[in-house]
Amino acid sequence: MHLILLGPPGGGKGTQAKRLQDEYGLVQLSTGDMLRAAVASGSEIGKQAKAVMEAGKLVSDDIVIGIIADRIKQPDAKKGFILDGFPRTVAQAEALDKMLTERKLKIDAAIEVRVPDTMIVERITGRFTCAKCGAGYHDKFQRPKADGVCDACGGREFVRRADDNAATVQSRLDAYHAQTAPILPFYDKKGVLKVVDGTLPIEEVTKRLRDIVEGSAVS
Ligand code: AMP
Repeated sequence: MHLILLGPPGGGKGTQAKRLQDEYGLVQLSTGDMLRAAVASGSEIGKQAKAVMEAGKLVSDDIVIGIIADRIKQPDAKKGFILDGFPRTVAQAEALDKMLTERKLKIDAAIEVRVPDTMIVERITGRFTCAKCGAGYHDKFQRPKADGVCDACGGREFVRRADDNAATVQSRLDAYHAQTAPILPFYDKKGVLKVVDGTLPIEEVTKRLRDIVEGSAVS
């Protein structure tokens, strides 16, 4: 099974991809996570990506296409994957198509998690993750059960992304509308585009995604 989660930054793609990965034994491939790891490691790619990411702009197609091309060759990707944050431009969608065709694979569903811009700022500026296990939380929508303690691993240190601030959100939304939204028709033409209302509670969004995944699996 090969899925793509599409939708604006802060729309819940990462949260939902983590849930689906656990339930269906798929691997979550987040180019944002890979780029943040590259920045943290100080690699050449990280150095090139850092300022672009902090400005809320898109990293070059060549870099992200190269990262994904390497990543889908890894053994764990054989069991199927969920792309989260990739593709983000028409050129990336076309490159992905080529990579998959060469491997005789195809996208089973490209799912747009739809959330209006007006809800994005609050969602993005409130989110944080456990520094130890990466579990995601939100100041308002998903607080840890005990304040300051991660539900998943008991960790007590939390981090916020450098680009999750009100100043950067607008550029990220602009990049989404200008460069990423135009790939929706690309998947619609292939007959694999599905839309889920991302404003619903997290559990309800997961339920609707499950219905799509299970429907795609039998078709
Ligand atoms: P994300 O974690 O998906 O919100 O991505 C964080 C940042 O990483 C984005 O704002 C971009 O600067 C960069 N990025 C992640 N994925 C891509 C991609 N597929 N193409 C270009 N830039 C990306």
